Amino acid sequence: MSVTDELIVNAEAYTSSFDKGDLPLPPARGVAVLACMDARLNPYSLLGLSEGDAHVIRNAGGVVTADEIRSLAISQRLLGTTEIILIHHTDCGMLTFTDDEFRATLEADVGQRPDWATEAFTDLAADVRQSRARILGSPFIPHKESVRGFIYDVSKGTLQEVV
Ligand code: ZN
Repeated sequence: MSVTDELIVNAEAYTSSFDKGDLPLPPARGVAVLACMDARLNPYSLLGLSEGDAHVIRNAGGVVTADEIRSLAISQRLLGTTEIILIHHTDCGMLTFTDDEFRATLEADVGQRPDWATEAFTDLAADVRQSRARILGSPFIPHKESVRGFIYDVSKGTLQEVV
């Protein structure tokens, strides 16, 4: 039995007590969260979110690239969110390698370099600011009054705003 098979059993248990079938499509709290995919960071538990409350977008690092702008533009322009929360975290895997190293490793292994950047970073707070700046600079994001960035500490469970 694979882990996936085990998780499908969990989904069946979830379905058996499911009572959220009438939630509206637009997020009730009007917020989009962009967070790192790190397994130790649970944005729903951390922020007190439930099904129907928010868009939660995740990727390696919680970085802002064209695809995150795509999701945020859809979130705001079509589904009514007006606030954005960015979450990076301590001990992030993105701090452990450089873009050049990773690309060189890929090239050595598979014979070609990727056409995307890893967006690895060396300074958490600086990258939160960079992510925020990319959103503020995007013409596709209409609501920029509340775009706030944070660092979650995976050892303490604390959330600290980056100003
Ligand atoms: Zn991370």
